[in-house]
Amino acid sequence: MPTSVIANATVVTGLAASDVIHDGAVAINGDVISAVGPSAEVVAANPGAELVDGRGRAVFPGLINCHAHLINVLSRGITEDFGFPPDLPFPVSIYSLVSDEEKIALATLGAVEAIRGGTTTLLEMAAGLDLYASSVADTGLRLILAENTDDGVIGPAYRPGQPPTGFSEEQRSTKLGRANDLFSKWHGARDGRITCFASAQLVETSSPGLLAEVRSLAERYGTGYTIHLAQSRLEVETVLAMRGVRPSNYLAENDFLGPGLLAAHVRYVDEGEIAVLGRSRTHITHQPAMAALRAVHPPIPALRDAGCVVGLGTDNNTQDMFEVMRSALRTERVATGSATSPQPEDVVEWATMGSARALRMEDQIGSLEPGKKADLFMINMRRAHLVPTMRIVSSYIHNGQTGDVESVMVDGNWVMRDGGVVGLNEVDLIDEVDRIGRRAWSRMVAMHPDVSFPLNLSPG
Ligand SMILES: [Zn+2]
Repeated sequence: MPTSVIANATVVTGLAASDVIHDGAVAINGDVISAVGPSAEVVAANPGAELVDGRGRAVFPGLINCHAHLINVLSRGITEDFGFPPDLPFPVSIYSLVSDEEKIALATLGAVEAIRGGTTTLLEMAAGLDLYASSVADTGLRLILAENTDDGVIGPAYRPGQPPTGFSEEQRSTKLGRANDLFSKWHGARDGRITCFASAQLVETSSPGLLAEVRSLAERYGTGYTIHLAQSRLEVETVLAMRGVRPSNYLAENDFLGPGLLAAHVRYVDEGEIAVLGRSRTHITHQPAMAALRAVHPPIPALRDAGCVVGLGTDNNTQDMFEVMRSALRTERVATGSATSPQPEDVVEWATMGSARALRMEDQIGSLEPGKKADLFMINMRRAHLVPTMRIVSSYIHNGQTGDVESVMVDGNWVMRDGGVVGLNEVDLIDEVDRIGRRAWSRMVAMHPDVSFPLNLSPG
């Protein structure tokens, strides 16, 4: 017997064939969807199920974020406005000024933000993930944990794109050891809700030996692996100088491309690289909102046409996948000069089934259909900025707000219900992270009075 039926709702299935079911229902049995269809039919077929009132609500497949760095919420309102790599000349990273406990709070806040926007699955790419994996898993999100590795030797003021000073076998084995430990501990944890990916953080800090080991770690567990690729002009220049070829070609030479790879960004690639990436069927995660802030639109239509699978992600500072979908639509229309493509339905597809394919999880998540995991979110359509809602996907993408999300379910469990995130004190967490951010940035500025900080910070 199904545990619950969301009835009398507008159901956006995420499947092109059935598209939107007006007065529809979704039945949930344990952690999976058992039926999707007209409300009267689904309710009649499931007597005794708990009925969730979906009147005035639209149900969407949960959004899937393929590229996040949760603790980077610390840099909100700072690094968005200084390019990439950010042009803030501090001799140390801001992340060296927060404690382990504070990092856990930052990551947990990022997870709460993700849930509030309708995200149900998130790939977190970072070093030292074991520190906060448990707290983030406790929020109920479906997670893919990608522990960063590298063997390029870098200093405390390193910025992505710069060349390392050398390569260290000892560093390689330490970091791969950490990634191995994370797989042993977390891959398949929490009833399969948490899985892992292997990760080489940056092309410029990855030797051929490291790339081979990252790929083999993923193969051993049958998972994908990820890397930042062609994310800045500086990275392209550095790799050309170090390896004599452009970043994608360096990865191709080392047998790193292919459908197992989820390459993040892929902004600065030439035609030859697009062809190589497409032929290898490499998966790509596109972060349109962050790319736009950095004044670039990656050649996503060309990569898609060449054969790449493309999903969407947020990247630094924010976990707002709604903003990502709207940015994907607007930036691609500007880039291609078409006012009719993509359509709102396309960007919802990219953030759901597209991202599911990019993560190689399309048989489990990405659409509302029987047999898939019960990962979904509900929005309130009775809002001044949304009505009339005859074409809800369009209303939502063009005019919606993250705050329209009322309830979010992951793996059959409500992780947000009627506007409240379940199982934690959100107000206290927000206060705590505000304090952490103020203290860390004020300390940074005080420690380095010689660095002219271009922002007027409010008192710490
Ligand atoms: Zn990133």
